[in-house]
Amino acid sequence: VGRHPTPQAGSAKVAGVDRIIAIGSGKGGVGKSTVSSNLAVALAREGRRVGLLDADIYGPSQPRMMGVNKRPASPDGKTIIPLTAHGVTVMSIGFMVDPDKAVVWRGPMLMGALQQMLGQVQWGELDVLIVDLPPGTGDVQLTLCQKTHLTGAVVVSTPQDVALIDARKALDMFNSLKTPVLGLIENMASFHCPNCGHESHIFGQGGVAAEADRIGAPLLGALPIDLDTRLAGDAGTPIAAGDGPMAEAYRNLARRFID
Ligand code: ADP
Repeated sequence: VGRHPTPQAGSAKVAGVDRIIAIGSGKGGVGKSTVSSNLAVALAREGRRVGLLDADIYGPSQPRMMGVNKRPASPDGKTIIPLTAHGVTVMSIGFMVDPDKAVVWRGPMLMGALQQMLGQVQWGELDVLIVDLPPGTGDVQLTLCQKTHLTGAVVVSTPQDVALIDARKALDMFNSLKTPVLGLIENMASFHCPNCGHESHIFGQGGVAAEADRIGAPLLGALPIDLDTRLAGDAGTPIAAGDGPMAEAYRNLARRFID
């Protein structure tokens, strides 16, 4: 995926980081952060050096999902030493703000925080940096796509129409910013009843594949609604860190990002 990225004019690389992949969505709550953390952990388990940047300014979930929540050290007062969890180097805007207070920032503050998290964090040598974007098409996405040399973006959506309509807007945004779309990921694609074995398509069926077809990008994976995925995320140990079918599903997804 994304082996031949289109370089963006005027965009900067992050020192030591080989590829930057942004994970976006149209709507919130579709599982973008869950997919980001699990993909990062799965890539690390495949032997890649992985960073995870939680840029979801308004609802940073990675401290909770990755099970790390303390203020990172800055011994020199200029650079920030990121935290490590489950084999992944993690930085979150959530480490820097009070989790109980709303972040009410204007564009320039958002952009300052983003630039700081990219440029002043000691990421070290990374094969891939996964960026968990805020939902939608706002200032953070714009800044990241314009100022940073992204390998590409991945859009997570559920198969539900209201999610897909917004996912399409995110896709259009990446397109107009000339950020290559590496593919789509369908989350909450189906529910397999653990009692009767019946499979239901709670949020609909086929919509994400159709959208991928429409824009000529691959459907990189389809992940079911899964209780253990939710519990693992809430407990700070992504399901991809364990064994079992969901860890395997994320491993398969991760392999789509490995040349
Ligand atoms: P977003 O980042 O798009 O806002 P999250 O990753 O925070 O979405 O997910 C929203 C909620 O749905 C979280 O509580 C998460 O644990 C849960 N969730 C996400 N994906 C799944 C899934 N495949 N199965 C079950 N629960 C999920």
